Amino acid sequence: MWSDGYLAHDANWLVWAGLKLPSDEEADRAKILRTELERAGVEMVSAKDHGRAPIEAVHLPEMIDYLETAHQRWMEAGYPDYPGADLVVPYAFPHPEAFGAYASRLPTSRAAMAGVYCMDTATTIGPGTYRGARSAADGALTAAGLVKEGASAVYAPVRPPGHHAGTSYFGGNCYLNSVAVAANWLASESERPVVIVDIDAHHGNGTQEIFYQRDDVHYHSIHVDPGEGWFPHWCGFAEETGTADGVGANLNLPLVPGSDDGVFLEALDRICANVAGLMPSFMVVSLGVDAGASDPESPLRVSNQGFAAVGQRLATLDLPTVLVQEGGYNLEALGPDVMAVLAAFR
Ligand SMILES: [Zn+2]
Repeated sequence: MWSDGYLAHDANWLVWAGLKLPSDEEADRAKILRTELERAGVEMVSAKDHGRAPIEAVHLPEMIDYLETAHQRWMEAGYPDYPGADLVVPYAFPHPEAFGAYASRLPTSRAAMAGVYCMDTATTIGPGTYRGARSAADGALTAAGLVKEGASAVYAPVRPPGHHAGTSYFGGNCYLNSVAVAANWLASESERPVVIVDIDAHHGNGTQEIFYQRDDVHYHSIHVDPGEGWFPHWCGFAEETGTADGVGANLNLPLVPGSDDGVFLEALDRICANVAGLMPSFMVVSLGVDAGASDPESPLRVSNQGFAAVGQRLATLDLPTVLVQEGGYNLEALGPDVMAVLAAFR
């Protein structure tokens, strides 16, 4: 499922630990994946614009408005000239105990506004960010539509990724949660539950939050243990199992740094057993490959053969499946590792 919009997001630097650093969530990632898919001879389909309604079913409309206009208004406020920042980057965040009582009041400064919906300093906004995020959501939605109509599996090599973006916030390289948007739409179209399987090396805190109180979309995630010091730090622990109607519909399997194929696949087997028991209508896979052994963003150690085994296990579930790209930042490993997962679905 392709869109040229996957190349539009162009925020090429971020701030981490006070340092301005290059972003490794770059357009080349989608170009590499497109080249791999063309080489494999798979059928390429163009993503369609689905409008805002299916996205507003998941995200706060005011946040979507903000993302749409943030860069333009940052430019108009003069920040590219002084202090010289061409991308929107927050410096202040409304701590709930300091400003929570005034949360409905939005700051007049665009620099302060940058911290209202963003949860970190590493998720900068450029002129193409909104188009990129919308294209990613449209790619996931178009893929979901094809699967609903009977396709067995559709893959969308989207960027930017989405699973760290929640109802009213974004961060962690993510702006709109494409997997959540697609899963939410599929759930609205079916009687049986939809399952999300998130194999990205990081916990999908946004996806978890969006569905945490629901039993029509079940979230399962394998990721590096946030208790060992890894993003998203505050959640992704095993004891987070859902609330209200969603009790038991959230399964986190955090892994210790250094975990290899054996440990990763053992966790995936637990998830697959759970998924099979749910008899779901559809599966949506958050297909990050940053658990790969050479990835700079995580300490997990999954090999290329390990990703092939991941694909085989997921395909064996024999569910109509939407696969949406999340992380994967080693440009040499990205293509082979994604293709290893996808091979089992051909
Ligand atoms: Zn990740």
